[in-house]
Amino acid sequence: MMDEQLARALHGAGLLSRETLTQAARSRRQGETLARALLRMGLLPPAEILRFAPHALDDAPAAPVAPAAASAPEIGSAERDNSDLEGEFTVEGADGAADPSQAPVVSFTNELLRIAITMGASDIHLEPRANGLLPRYRIDGQLRPGQLLPPDLTLPMVSRLKVVGGLDITENRMPQDGRFRASLGKRTFDFRVSSLPSLHGEKIVLRLLDHSSLVVDLAQLGFGATDRAAFEAMLGRSHGMILVTGPTGSGKTTTLYAALAGTRDETKNVITVEDPVEYELEGVTQTNVHHDIGLSFASVLRSVLRQDPDVILVGEIRDSETADVAVRAALTGHLVLSTLHTNSAVAAVTRLQDMDVPPYLIASSLAGVVAQRLARLNCRHCRVPVPADDPARLENSAALELAPDAPMWRGSGCTQCGNTGSRGRVALIELLHVDTNLRRAIMDKEDSDTLRTIARKNGFKTLIDDAREKVVAGHLAPEEAMRVLVGHEE
Ligand SMILES: [Zn+2]
Repeated sequence: MMDEQLARALHGAGLLSRETLTQAARSRRQGETLARALLRMGLLPPAEILRFAPHALDDAPAAPVAPAAASAPEIGSAERDNSDLEGEFTVEGADGAADPSQAPVVSFTNELLRIAITMGASDIHLEPRANGLLPRYRIDGQLRPGQLLPPDLTLPMVSRLKVVGGLDITENRMPQDGRFRASLGKRTFDFRVSSLPSLHGEKIVLRLLDHSSLVVDLAQLGFGATDRAAFEAMLGRSHGMILVTGPTGSGKTTTLYAALAGTRDETKNVITVEDPVEYELEGVTQTNVHHDIGLSFASVLRSVLRQDPDVILVGEIRDSETADVAVRAALTGHLVLSTLHTNSAVAAVTRLQDMDVPPYLIASSLAGVVAQRLARLNCRHCRVPVPADDPARLENSAALELAPDAPMWRGSGCTQCGNTGSRGRVALIELLHVDTNLRRAIMDKEDSDTLRTIARKNGFKTLIDDAREKVVAGHLAPEEAMRVLVGHEE
């Protein structure tokens, strides 16, 4: 009876297809509830089941089940807007199952991908182990294990993903990569597939590129109102260079795309040079570099300049040749957006100098620099004030230049955040606007500290300033702010 109610609720919510639910119900072991069967098969994490049937897992879990259930991925879909995700999951160009014996594997694989999407995963790992296939999902930057799948599913699921990803199915000794596109409800997703031979079979990692999450609002990213207005003003310029800096995984690409989306219109020729193209952007000409055939950022950029561009996005400036072409493009009537691998905004200036760009060219081309980091947000369902005698408060308040009794919050862990205390991420931002004073200082080859001091006189907010504001506002735990900021000073 209870099983039936749960099945109806899950189907009604569009989480599982009738077919999958029937399969799960049939595979129930003696005395096993549907909820337990779904957990065992890795079809749904506990939080999602509990959302529909709060007592479904009360049946005193046996000792071996409990740790697995506790570490299983939790879904944030109650709060994520998943309303446009209702409907079929279909892989483009792949017919569901030409061979009927493959049908269960196809629907099982589809279900797994669909769950990953509703959880907001950025990557899906399928890891062959001695005792089965372990799915793991990267959510908000952290890997969370799913339920171990039976070993006899390993080969069929890996093969299925290789087929849809366009990989050579007969090759299992060499690493391969490919991609496919799928849709769920009203949304389209690109999956990048990578296979790596391992001891117990090929490990598959899927990178999920969500078209709808691609163009995000700058405010949503973490820009405060003042920075946002200043950044938008820079983007409105017809020429100059705007750089986004930060370590790998700090969300630079997302910010660049958000910036690009703001400049894109039919009256402008927008061209990108990327390594590789990750998202397809409508109305934008996107090109790839190919290092193996000598097509570097610099050489593609030279060809792009003959295409009468208005706005150019260069994936990354990492050598003096690219820096030189990019700077000259910015000086000759083009708006150039790019990224640099530096820790702070002012460090971008010294990095360009290190790449042999003469200071007068940096001064006259650079319009602004964004430095950013990604930090985990406090789960707003379970955040509580940090106690007055908390060690993290005492340890971090000085570094954050906060009074020891300043308001601070942190997530305490709940079903909404999978007991991690955090949900979603936000960028910490510092935006350097290159004005006349700064331009003169750059020309005079002043060092980073001097540049920073000059900028601060004009209201420049550093990453620490931004972190402090977000801690006091309850968005960030103090220890998370410091974790993200470590290595910020150069
Ligand atoms: Zn929580």
